[in-house]
Amino acid sequence: MPQRLGQHFLIRDSVLERLAGAACGKLTPRVIEIGPGRGALTRHLLPRTDELHALELDAKLAAYLREQFGAESKLHVQEGDVLATDLSQWGSAVITGNLPYYITSPIIEKFLALDARFQTAVFLMQWEVAQRLTAAPGSRDYGYLTVATQLVCEVELVAKVPPEAFRPPPKVDSGAVRLSRRTEQPSNLSELLDFVSLCFRQKRKTLRNNLHGAYGERADALPEAGLRAEQIAVHDFEALYRRIYQR
Ligand code: SAM
Repeated sequence: MPQRLGQHFLIRDSVLERLAGAACGKLTPRVIEIGPGRGALTRHLLPRTDELHALELDAKLAAYLREQFGAESKLHVQEGDVLATDLSQWGSAVITGNLPYYITSPIIEKFLALDARFQTAVFLMQWEVAQRLTAAPGSRDYGYLTVATQLVCEVELVAKVPPEAFRPPPKVDSGAVRLSRRTEQPSNLSELLDFVSLCFRQKRKTLRNNLHGAYGERADALPEAGLRAEQIAVHDFEALYRRIYQR
């Protein structure tokens, strides 16, 4: 079993049903599933959608899926790396998956970079990342990924899932998270995210320390210069960014 590909297969029906329901509700026109494995979640998604694109890196598993679901015209199995795949190629869709944990953050960032046709993602991920996504300012888990995700999406914890729900069991707990893209997005998102990333560059240091190299006295003059990025609320980063540019 190549566990290097994060192959921990879900075996608990209640979790699979919860994930599929959180992603699709009763019915959603199109779904993209990342890492279908042997099709455990796929089976729960199929009755809830008209079109399912399942993207699997492991050639053997992709072949297995094609064989298992051969008669299912709604299912399109694609062999490939999610990080190298254009997820917008099929048009508007819900994105879901029991993720390969070694690339959870890049997958989330990939979803964040999509457009308004991609409203919802429901991902099962390691608990530590689920906590980072839902963290509040001032907490240990609050960081760049929290702010980047919450600027773009509303984040909701759907379920905590223990290792026993998988085979083989992973070493850590897992969390299912739903991301719902906000209607209002910051207009200058990519520059704003670069700025947020700089603010968190050295997490224990003040904004003055992290920003001085790029913004000099403009950073020193900020009323918040003595605070750390983890003390700034998600939507206050936008105001901070605007002020540092207007000076
Ligand atoms: N969905 C299945 C389940 O719940 O039983 C399997 C989930 S398993 C945690 C992650 C799956 O992602 C594996 O099937 C693995 O082969 C696949 N995978 C790993 N890296 C991938 C990548 N870069 N692109 C697409 N799939 C990948």
